[in-house]
Amino acid sequence: MSSITVKVLALWLFYIPVAFSAGIGDVFHVKQGSENGGCDSHLSDLTRWWTESQAMASAGLSAFDDANGNAGDTKTKNAKHALQKYLGIDDDTSNEDKEDIKSILLDVQLFMAKKKFLKDDLPWLFCDSTWLEQKSRTDKIEECGEEVEIQDSAKYGPQLEADESSVPYYSSDLDQYVVDQVWGEGGVCASSRELGVTQGLTDPSTVTLCPRAFTRTGVETNFGVDAQGKKLRDVLSKSATLFHELFHLVIGSDDTIDATYDLGTLFKHIEKPYTIPGKSEWDGQRNALKNLDRKTNAMLVRTNPETWVFFCTDYWYTLNKNLYWDTTGVSNTA
Ligand SMILES: [Zn+2]
Repeated sequence: MSSITVKVLALWLFYIPVAFSAGIGDVFHVKQGSENGGCDSHLSDLTRWWTESQAMASAGLSAFDDANGNAGDTKTKNAKHALQKYLGIDDDTSNEDKEDIKSILLDVQLFMAKKKFLKDDLPWLFCDSTWLEQKSRTDKIEECGEEVEIQDSAKYGPQLEADESSVPYYSSDLDQYVVDQVWGEGGVCASSRELGVTQGLTDPSTVTLCPRAFTRTGVETNFGVDAQGKKLRDVLSKSATLFHELFHLVIGSDDTIDATYDLGTLFKHIEKPYTIPGKSEWDGQRNALKNLDRKTNAMLVRTNPETWVFFCTDYWYTLNKNLYWDTTGVSNTA
């Protein structure tokens, strides 16, 4: 194919209705510059990731509509199959439950379209964790006209007290503190395997994409590559990190536990939707199952951001490349 044909095809594949065409800079304060979390060297990646995330959201939402078509149509069957496989939605699921589940993805799409506002001010987007500067618990801040140690302040004291090993980090962009564990030089991005971190304790909230999210290998650079005979995980693109973090941001971190990043674990648990799992049944990575409010497998799977990455990607391929994945591995013709 000539490059013009490829470009036209790419535009068509990622066609987004005008109503949903806000840019990433319309809904985020994207940190400028190239230091302290600045995104200037990643702007072209971010623009592409945004378009790809919009395409994933649109495809996933189509599945909910397509599932209401004529029962005998291939399109209806494919949509029902995707809803059942990833989200445990079948003919017994009530319309109310279906709407509740769909609203998770719809809220993300509305946020991306600048039609849903989370707080008074736009959230910040950083491209490294160096926007946070570690401080001491005994550093002084002004509160209600008085100088107090951060650990004694009404605003941050309770969070610091809840975890004795935590420390305050200062953000000059937000002029606020974030309480977190000690990460060392470079912060969470330098000291962990995290690709992205979202937190909603500050106002506005923040999304941090780690440098590794831009440079990692083992995933595609572009969304929508030829997927014939490939595993779903192998056709995910780097934009999955941004799309994943949007669920934490829009729905809230407490309601979007990272129960699993593993497709096999997801499929195993959605088979037993009403079971309340023990911690050992899930992955157990940092941020993993703190199932204190005893969510069922179905609730955990449906609020797990990576579930939506898989579900939307699969159904995007069904709509655009006539492929789908079953629970055993490589793609099939839809
Ligand atoms: Zn996550």
